[in-house]
Amino acid sequence: MNYRHAYHAGNFADVLKHVVLLALVEALKQKPAPFCVIDTHAGSGCYALDGAEAGKTGEYRDGIARLLFPDLGNAGHEPLPPLLRRWLDGILALPGNEHGLKLYPGSPLQAAQAMRDIDSAQLCELHPEEAARLRELFRRDARLHVHGRDGYEALKALLPPKEKRGLVLIDPPYEAQEAEYRLIEQALKEALQRWPGGIYAVWYPVKRRSQVQPFLRWLAHCGAKRVLRAELLVHGDDSPLRLNGSGMAIVNAPWQLDEALREPLRALARLLAQERPAEWTLNWLVDEAPAAPARPARLPPAPRRR
Ligand code: SAM
Repeated sequence: MNYRHAYHAGNFADVLKHVVLLALVEALKQKPAPFCVIDTHAGSGCYALDGAEAGKTGEYRDGIARLLFPDLGNAGHEPLPPLLRRWLDGILALPGNEHGLKLYPGSPLQAAQAMRDIDSAQLCELHPEEAARLRELFRRDARLHVHGRDGYEALKALLPPKEKRGLVLIDPPYEAQEAEYRLIEQALKEALQRWPGGIYAVWYPVKRRSQVQPFLRWLAHCGAKRVLRAELLVHGDDSPLRLNGSGMAIVNAPWQLDEALREPLRALARLLAQERPAEWTLNWLVDEAPAAPARPARLPPAPRRR
């Protein structure tokens, strides 16, 4: 396990992932009942952008920094769509960011910020040092529980959550390359058996398109009735040597999540474009949602009587 998320914190892939995460948490908050967020690969929870790791790669400069200084993204001064604005404001409101962007919150901290007091989170992180930082970060927040264990294995014990509503975020480092997809598929298959109604959001990298296609095909036949894919490419998807883009596949996506993401994705494509226009995709891999309730038939007007 060599991967450390600190090197990549706040990059263009994090921006997409975490904006989708906020949209999902906001969708869950539409109902008053409590929900649970399960983060299978949680990381350490918060990253210093001027620290040794993020400072060394500077990846956040082509990520979140483009939203702070839209001129860098050649975007003029168009206002951010409301979801992006809320996302960015949440990050700027973090203690430590009062004088500008210094800290980038990882998925657990972003979820914690967006959740209500009645909601809870289960956070799995296998690397002992990252897990220790995560524990320290949330030591005073009883809503969040840290598990220093394999996130795929932990799903067997954590699903279904007692709240019976919520979201599983699966965000592995893909150190196993394409073999990681098979681990995700197995974990999702078992998770859907345990908890068919849960929302599952899987982050995936796009390097060479052919590497991700089998996974997208698997999702299309995984048995879920609604699977949404949101993808953003800042380079062509033909080179295995670099991260060209990334996507989020959302199994059991909430109603109208596509509408909530459309304008934010369009804006991100404009802001995060690099040497060529960025490409974005938002489509249903499966959409067997029950049809909208039938409207009462409109009868022709009754003939007038004299
Ligand atoms: N979700 C985090 C975020 O958005 O801020 C970033 C997570 S990072 C991409 C992946 C993390 O998974 C790393 O911190 C790594 O140590 C951890 N990890 C790797 N294999 C794991 C496993 N099998 N179970 C749990 N954590 C794992």
